[in-house]
Amino acid sequence: MSERSTVGLDLAHRYAKEFLSGLDERSVASTVDVTTLRDHLGGPVPEVGEEPAAVIEHMVAAIDGGILGSTSGRFFAWVIGGSLEAALAADWLTSTWDQNAALSPCSPAAAVVEEIAGAWLLDLLALPRDASFAFTTGCQMAHFTSLAAARNAVLRAHDWDVNLDGLQGAPAVRVLTSTQRHGSVDRALRFLGFGSRHLTTIETNEFGQCDIETLRNALAGGNGPTIVILKAGDINIAAFDDFNRAIPLAKEHGAWVHVDGAFGLFARISSQYCSLTAGIELADSWVTDGHKWLNVPFDCGFAVIRDTRAHRESMSIGASYISTDAATRDQIDWNPEWSRRARGFPVYAALRQLGRGGLEDLINRNCAQACKLVDGIGEHSGANVLWRPTLNQGLVRFLDTRPDAGAADHDRRTERIIQMVNASGEAFFSGTTWRERRAMRISVVNAHTADADIHRSVVAVCEAVDHCIREDARNS
Ligand SMILES: *Cc1c(COP(=O)(O)O)cnc(C)c1O
Repeated sequence: MSERSTVGLDLAHRYAKEFLSGLDERSVASTVDVTTLRDHLGGPVPEVGEEPAAVIEHMVAAIDGGILGSTSGRFFAWVIGGSLEAALAADWLTSTWDQNAALSPCSPAAAVVEEIAGAWLLDLLALPRDASFAFTTGCQMAHFTSLAAARNAVLRAHDWDVNLDGLQGAPAVRVLTSTQRHGSVDRALRFLGFGSRHLTTIETNEFGQCDIETLRNALAGGNGPTIVILKAGDINIAAFDDFNRAIPLAKEHGAWVHVDGAFGLFARISSQYCSLTAGIELADSWVTDGHKWLNVPFDCGFAVIRDTRAHRESMSIGASYISTDAATRDQIDWNPEWSRRARGFPVYAALRQLGRGGLEDLINRNCAQACKLVDGIGEHSGANVLWRPTLNQGLVRFLDTRPDAGAADHDRRTERIIQMVNASGEAFFSGTTWRERRAMRISVVNAHTADADIHRSVVAVCEAVDHCIREDARNS
């Protein structure tokens, strides 16, 4: 047998190390446009194959400038984590081992590692230890998995078997959710046959929480199968619903309560922030991401479901060739995919690298950094803090300082500052509309963000603001 070539792998290893060690010097933003990328990468279908090393050489050169430094410590857009060294290394090995983590017989190690990592997460997140879980591609599919179980359970309680009879002719399912929900909630519901026109949306209060009286009235409006979707951390201000009041209320009406905790569920691990999640353990299903605050590379979400029967019934296929060995956990019984990546390995590695203490430190450190960043920018007279982080998310708005400037000018100024900072390559932010105003959103969820990164980013923002203010003076 010929020995496998590893020249391409050695090359990839070298480029990976160069990329990571060069992050401080390279632009956080992309520096080429998509036309350039298409020019470098495109062309007709290759008729003749190439050596693996040549393929890697070509690809690395051709994508140059088109990779965002989202894994660097100065990337604060959306809610995007970095990757821990052990998690990244384990992710490389996951691809190397190339296990099909569908069934325990396909890879006993992948099955056991996922089983253990799942149990550790239940412990860390202080969720019921006998709940079932699924490792999904992300929170989007974790919503899908949880809400499929919810659909199964609430219809079963009304003598309807959705697996056999589907939704046609089924009792109408009411879905109540807040106006501040993430778009992935609507999409999961859509996949499950619940159209957006049939959602009941609950207004939020000044803290971004579901208004309890509105929820009470909405729940009183019917007694059919009901699903209530709450949130632990929305993307603008990391608002947490009042679980201690909302969940018992929903339960009085026999509702299934699902919680979106894509990043906010991790607050539960910190003694400083866990009170935000008080009462969350009363829910029926919870979702969070591994690729956000746990700093595992992308393709990693978790669903946790109290009703293990509903969970298994909604996902399992029970084909005759699938083992029913109760001593092993077949992942296919709990998640929507068949063939799949062994997502447990990088999670297991991340949890071992950090430990409970390291994970709590990471959360506390990122939250403190988010405040430092918002406060640092807020000290500038051309900035206006809309939301000082209560966890890791903050909002800042920038002001047009010309005497006759109005709200639309401040919106434009805010957009312009984001654009200027991103173009500087020094730091990267995204914009949002919050309570009818444009704002720059600041999200800190990266284990590699150092205090020096915060300082450097404050300087970059203030330079952009200074530049615009000098322009205002010339224009007024
Ligand atoms: C990121 C996010 C999601 C979607 O998660 P994916 O991992 O991108 O599928 C859902 N809800 C909230 C609050 C999020 O921040």
